[in-house]
Amino acid sequence: MAILSKSTYIKGLQCEKALYMYKKHPYLRDKLSIEQRAKFQRGTDVGVLAHKYFPGGMDMSPDSPSQFQEKVQETMANLANPAVNVMYEAVFQHNDTLIMLDMLVRDGDQWMAVEVKSSMRLSDTYYNDAALQYYVLHGCGVPLSDFKLMYLYADYVKNGPIDVKQLFKLESVLDYVIEREEFVSKNVERLKSVVALPHSPVVNIGTQCNNPYPCDFQGHCWKHVPKNSYLFTTAMGDETLFESYFNGVNSNAKMLQQLAPDSETTHQIEALETNSYYIDYKTLYSLKPQPDPKSVAYLNLLLNRPAVPEIDGTRPYEEMILAFALQGKHEPEGCFVWDCFDDRNRWSESIPILIDKLSHYELIVCFTPQNLTTTLLRHKILQNREIGHKVFNLFDTLQVAHFYHPTIKRGLTLQRLSEALFPDAKLFEHSRIILEATSNDLIGYQQAKEDLIAENEMVARTYQHFFK
Ligand code: SF4
Repeated sequence: MAILSKSTYIKGLQCEKALYMYKKHPYLRDKLSIEQRAKFQRGTDVGVLAHKYFPGGMDMSPDSPSQFQEKVQETMANLANPAVNVMYEAVFQHNDTLIMLDMLVRDGDQWMAVEVKSSMRLSDTYYNDAALQYYVLHGCGVPLSDFKLMYLYADYVKNGPIDVKQLFKLESVLDYVIEREEFVSKNVERLKSVVALPHSPVVNIGTQCNNPYPCDFQGHCWKHVPKNSYLFTTAMGDETLFESYFNGVNSNAKMLQQLAPDSETTHQIEALETNSYYIDYKTLYSLKPQPDPKSVAYLNLLLNRPAVPEIDGTRPYEEMILAFALQGKHEPEGCFVWDCFDDRNRWSESIPILIDKLSHYELIVCFTPQNLTTTLLRHKILQNREIGHKVFNLFDTLQVAHFYHPTIKRGLTLQRLSEALFPDAKLFEHSRIILEATSNDLIGYQQAKEDLIAENEMVARTYQHFFK
């Protein structure tokens, strides 16, 4: 049975302990968030669509892990079968390492390997993936004419049915993977010996816990770290924080001795110690809208960024407005909600409604990590100058004013903000999740609509907390 796969190899490159724990103690993994599930789903959807680039292939996907060895035999047999020109998810095994290749395409006497990425640019991890796959293919004796990564072309504009030849780009990484073969070979041997250890390797927490991906054993490995440790501050960056940690700075008191009394990290440690938040009020108040507006609207946009464009005229990952909630005194019962969940082709109907609604207010408050101005400009809402200068993004304002709370180590979100300011409030941000999802199965839209309103109420509460 194989010991390594593509994902466990990548995990092992990040941290030997993560690999060992995954293989021997998987029950200690942190629970997968709905956002992570949505990301995995997106990768699968794009992979299946990409098959159309080389149609008519034989799908080698096993129905269950018990079929892997059978599929390895079938894949090898298909290589010698002139009737098979394309294989999807072909399964190969070499030196206890098992891979599934997205597409293998016959190219004369040889084969072209293609690995699909649901992204618009290629990262180091993708190159590492490809290098491992090449190592296994070469080890299995597959004659390769090329190895290509396939990814989404950012400038593709949908016009009618999806044209996969235009949607995807192919880039050869053959020279790179050949050059990396020795590196992969050494790492495969190293990681196999890690898995064979009688106990977990001793690895201290460090920068690798979040780089390149947040490790899903943090709940286990970090449990000895006090919840108010300076390691949860954000002002200095993990490299610097762990340098102190490994140099024996093992308490907040020791860390504070090394810092200037008015440094940002000092303020953050004080917030950690008192389980409260820090904000630079001088900067915050300098950003306060002037003069006091007579009418304020709170706006929450629910945007979707599908990897594969769904609507004519849009590009991969281009935002479209799925719904919005507007809270303000001119709205019947104080809140207006619009959505196109039932038919996304109607999304542009939101724009004239938004322009009309927003023009009745002096200030429009929102909380969004996106550059809302860019979004509104793209949708030609800000061309209406009456509206453009009224938008006040609390997210940007709090960042500029160095807002910090122990909950925001992983980034400022409305949910974490509400935990910081109003610990009793319960908030679930569907809007962030929809941004990551192409599949609607992961969430219920009725629930999403209710949460859209609840989020907006939290935006209003936050604005009033700081500015009223
Ligand atoms: S949490 Fe950090 S130390 Fe623990 S397994 Fe993950 S990367 Fe390794």
